[in-house]
Amino acid sequence: MTMRRCPVCQTCEPREFCTHAGVPFVRCASCQSLYYGVEPDWTRIAQIYRDDYHRLRGHSDNPAVEAAKRATMLRYLRLVGRLGPPGHRFIEVGCSAGAGLATAAAAGWDVAGVELSAAAAEVARQRPGVRAVYTGRLEEAPLADGQTDVIALFDVLEHIDPPQGTLATIHRLLRPGGLVLIVTPDGGSLSARLLKAHWPHLFVEHVVLFSRRALRRCLETAGFQVARMGFAWKRINLDMLARHATIHPHVVGGALLRTFRRVLPGPLLRLDIPFNIGEFYVIARRGRTGARPHE
Ligand SMILES: [Zn+2]
Repeated sequence: MTMRRCPVCQTCEPREFCTHAGVPFVRCASCQSLYYGVEPDWTRIAQIYRDDYHRLRGHSDNPAVEAAKRATMLRYLRLVGRLGPPGHRFIEVGCSAGAGLATAAAAGWDVAGVELSAAAAEVARQRPGVRAVYTGRLEEAPLADGQTDVIALFDVLEHIDPPQGTLATIHRLLRPGGLVLIVTPDGGSLSARLLKAHWPHLFVEHVVLFSRRALRRCLETAGFQVARMGFAWKRINLDMLARHATIHPHVVGGALLRTFRRVLPGPLLRLDIPFNIGEFYVIARRGRTGARPHE
C-alpha cells in the first residue's frame, strides 16, 4: 500500500478503496476524502482533456444538455442571490462552452470565464453577454485582485490535486464578503461507499473526491466561512446520462442507459429531471482577513 499523503488534509493514513482504470484510489482515514494513492499521471490525464472533451459531453451542440446546464445555473444563481446580494461580477472557472456563462449574463451578471480547452473557450466567447473568457489556468488569468463578487466551479475542483493553490487564488480574486460556489462529487457519500468502482464520479481525471467536512475545513483554512452546504441537485436528462455512460463504461447502470439512448424517443430522452448521485454544493464567503496558516 502506498504512503502518499492526502492532498486535502496532508495526513498520511490511506486506506484501500478500489482500483479504477489502473489507478489505486484510496480513502483518507482522517478526512474521508478519496484520492490517488500514487502520484497522478498528468501526461495521461492531459490526454483526456483533448479538444473534443466538451463536444463528447454535448456542451456545445446539444440543446437538451444546454437546457439542463442553464436550469442548473439558474438554480444556483438564485441560491447565491439569497446570500448576497453580492454585486454582479461573476467568474466561472472551467466554463466549458459557456452555457452557464450565457445564462448568468442573461440574468444580469457581468460574466467572465476561465477554461483550459481553447476550443471550448472559443465557443464560450461567442455567447451573447460574455465579457471575456481566458484560456488556461485560473492562477494565470489576467484578473484583478479583490474585484469579483462570485466565483463558481461546477465539477472542477475534483480535477485539481492539490486544491489549496486554487482556493488561495479564488480568495485573492474575490472582494471581502464575496462568495465561492463549488459543486463537486461527495467522496464521503453513501453512494461512493456502496458503489466503489462503479460509482459514477470515479474517473481517471477526478484526482480528489472531497468529503463534505474535508472541503469545509479546506475552505476555512483558505480564509472562507461556509454559508451553505447541501445535496447538489442538477437538472439532467437521460441523453446526458447515456453520453456519460458511453464515455465512462464502468458506471452503474451504464448498459441500461446506453440501451435507453437507442430505443427511447427523443422527447423522452430530453425530459428535464432533477438528479443527484453523490454530489454536493457549498457556498462560502471570503472573510475579511487572509488565510489561516495551514495546520
Ligand atoms: Zn485527508
